[in-house]
Amino acid sequence: MSRSADVVVVGGGIAGSSLATVLARDGYQVVVLERQTVYRDKVRGEALACWGVAELLGLDLEKPLLDAGGCYATRMVPYDEVTDPAQAEAVAAPLDQVLSGVPGMLDVGHPEACEALVQAAATAGATVVRGVGDVDVQPGGAPGVRYEHDDVLHELRCRLVVAADGRMSTVRRQLGIKLHQTTPRTMGGGMLVDDLRSWPAGQISIGTEDDLLYLIFPRENGRTRLYLLHDIAQKGRFTGPDRQSKFLTAFGFRCIPGSEMFGAARPAGPCAFYPMNDSWTDQPSAPGVVLIGDAAGWNDPIIGQGLAIALRDVRIVTDVLRSGSDWSAAAFVSYGKERRERMRRLRLAAQVTTDILATFTPAGAARRLAYNAVWQTDLVLGGTRLATLGGPDNVPADSFTQSTIDRILALT
Ligand SMILES: Cc1cc2nc3c(=O)[nH]c(=O)nc-3n(C[C@H](O)[C@H](O)[C@H](O)COP(=O)(O)OP(=O)(O)OC[C@H]3O[C@@H](n4cnc5c(N)ncnc54)[C@H](O)[C@@H]3O)c2cc1C
Repeated sequence: MSRSADVVVVGGGIAGSSLATVLARDGYQVVVLERQTVYRDKVRGEALACWGVAELLGLDLEKPLLDAGGCYATRMVPYDEVTDPAQAEAVAAPLDQVLSGVPGMLDVGHPEACEALVQAAATAGATVVRGVGDVDVQPGGAPGVRYEHDDVLHELRCRLVVAADGRMSTVRRQLGIKLHQTTPRTMGGGMLVDDLRSWPAGQISIGTEDDLLYLIFPRENGRTRLYLLHDIAQKGRFTGPDRQSKFLTAFGFRCIPGSEMFGAARPAGPCAFYPMNDSWTDQPSAPGVVLIGDAAGWNDPIIGQGLAIALRDVRIVTDVLRSGSDWSAAAFVSYGKERRERMRRLRLAAQVTTDILATFTPAGAARRLAYNAVWQTDLVLGGTRLATLGGPDNVPADSFTQSTIDRILALT
């Protein structure tokens, strides 16, 4: 069976469905090919940084995510072994004041967000095909995609293929686009829980105690996404049939007031851990094909930027497509350049965050205490942290030089 479209999007996750919605609203003929028939909780990103919310608002995609149960967090409290809890509350970062017009960070379930966005794409007029297999992309001046669906082989011709098929991107592999990767220093994982009703609504918390870094992202009615990170040398720490209870027990942090509440929370999803690292591509496009989201290279989830990165990719690629009839490889060179610098800055931000929050030694704790005293007021030293809230292009370029990083690492 053979058909045609303006754009074929491979992967109906956050990046792919967002782009499909925007392009379908513009009147383009869009086909989304998604492997999953039901989106599953694979422990992925659920906290959208403030600069990603700005992109979401600009793309007019907020409503589907709010309708899917998304809610805004307005303050970040750094409960930590180096800080008295009252002091942590006093220096809470006001997330609703990071960017003008942005109400905070958006917490939303990943499967729910994917479902809401793919439905938005269909409502906007995109053709959504779920349960596809054997996707085979032919790049070039007249690109196409072959795929299998319900035991029938299909072929689509189009003007552009968008690869939004995630970390393990089949399309990236088929095109032979090289993926550079850093060596993981931590393992990070998470679990969704219910019945965490005493945790304050709209308050996220991130901090370190002993040999764990924790992150807490609440949604509505006591449903909360919890993450933990530990040194890569402890790989396998949260495995086995009792992994969920081990995970909740580990949340009994002394630095968090009332942390017994975590032991009483109810697991509401799988508990899964992954090596945390960065990756990037030199140029996320080839003739007739452009890569967006994790397929184009991902940022270490320790700083939770993947959703914002995906939405900025969507905005920039949309701008290229709207700017004229040139959809050739040359049109995407500027996207590649912007993305390389964006990912470089966020890679450094992730490295510094790992140094500050995941160096589980007394010297690491002392450096964290010293960094906490400066990051909100010294824009250069704080830039790698501030970039994770307001965006990597919204802080001084000097924040990403080796000399600044050396100054941070030398803090005691
Ligand atoms: C543990 C962890 C925690 C994270 N926490 C955060 C966070 O708090 N905040 C944040 O912003 N980011 C976070 N991230 C990162 C975030 O999850 C990703 O960056 C984001 O989901 C990328 O979106 P995407 O659309 O590019 O890819 P995905 O969400 O992976 O979507 C890809 C889609 O493509 C489909 N697909 C794959 N292969 C094919 C194929 N061959 N054919 C058709 N369809 C295919 C998949 O089924 C999927 O639906 C985290 C990641 C991890 C691992």
